[in-house]
Amino acid sequence: MNWSHEEESYWFLSARDGLTRFRRLTYTHTKQCSLREIARSGSGLPVYALQLGSGPKHVAILSGMHGCEPSGPRGLLAWLDALLNHSRPFGISVDQEKVLKGSTLYVIPLLNPGGAERFSLHFPDCWHGTWLNGWTEANATKFFAEANEPEHFFYGTYAKKPPMRFTPDQIAQWKATGHALGSSLTDAGLDMWFDWDDTNGVETKGTKALLQAVRPSLVMDIHNFMFPTEVFAPTVYSQGEWAAEETTLARSLQESWRAHRLLFNHRPPRPYPKPSEKYYEDYWFYQLGARTLIVEVNGGMLAPEGAEYEPLPGQRPLTRRESLESAFLAAHALVTHELT
Ligand SMILES: [Zn+2]
Repeated sequence: MNWSHEEESYWFLSARDGLTRFRRLTYTHTKQCSLREIARSGSGLPVYALQLGSGPKHVAILSGMHGCEPSGPRGLLAWLDALLNHSRPFGISVDQEKVLKGSTLYVIPLLNPGGAERFSLHFPDCWHGTWLNGWTEANATKFFAEANEPEHFFYGTYAKKPPMRFTPDQIAQWKATGHALGSSLTDAGLDMWFDWDDTNGVETKGTKALLQAVRPSLVMDIHNFMFPTEVFAPTVYSQGEWAAEETTLARSLQESWRAHRLLFNHRPPRPYPKPSEKYYEDYWFYQLGARTLIVEVNGGMLAPEGAEYEPLPGQRPLTRRESLESAFLAAHALVTHELT
């Protein structure tokens, strides 16, 4: 396979491998970085939170909520490596002193390790683009089945609708068919995206407890599903100066992608749509007092419908390297902008 230097260095091939790398990175920089386990998935995989720096700006960056969205966790690994080891992925260096003195960072790079582990079993290089060449209808169906089952099995559709949570009985029934749980779900069979209000998942509970304790003033969550790449801001709940700040932050991400000639939705940032019932993560971050950005790195033609989908001419699925770079730049632009 023809891998770039960045893919060779950061594109880990299983959740276990990724967790080992985050652990190793922390333990070789104990002065700058600490790591703690904030939850453990049903299959026994840890959810790690890294803490770096001691500055006044408290920033939280999350990724890997859905196991079938590989670019965020790997982009964060690349950015942390640039920060701690002075490597220069994509030709970019990170000013360690400035970042660690100016900010306190909380990074949860792999919110749903169980889902990511299942994804790697189905797509051995963790990139669906390699295994599902071209977004034909058949390939899209295959991908949705891998990510979202047993949704179709019980409800006749892969479309995600609340509560996106299956009972132990349903999961047992699904597993009895000989199939694995979808990789967008946690090991307990829930989609964390729909769990910010109910909070049934141990992964969601651990994440909320950490953020509630540290009260970040800024939260970014990186997903990797929509088409094209987009940063959503301000939240539908934000107003006035608050909303303006979120929009400015979102624009700094757009600028960064533009400078690196990466494809994205170049229209002015817009809010992530509000659900008809309950709420998503953006509301929870908002009520916590954090400015909020939801980033969706282009995951191919995976989501060609829905309220948040916006077809644009000239867009195409990103390569693995481009998606890695997009996630890396999102983290870099956010922290850099926050410190200026
Ligand atoms: Zn997602």
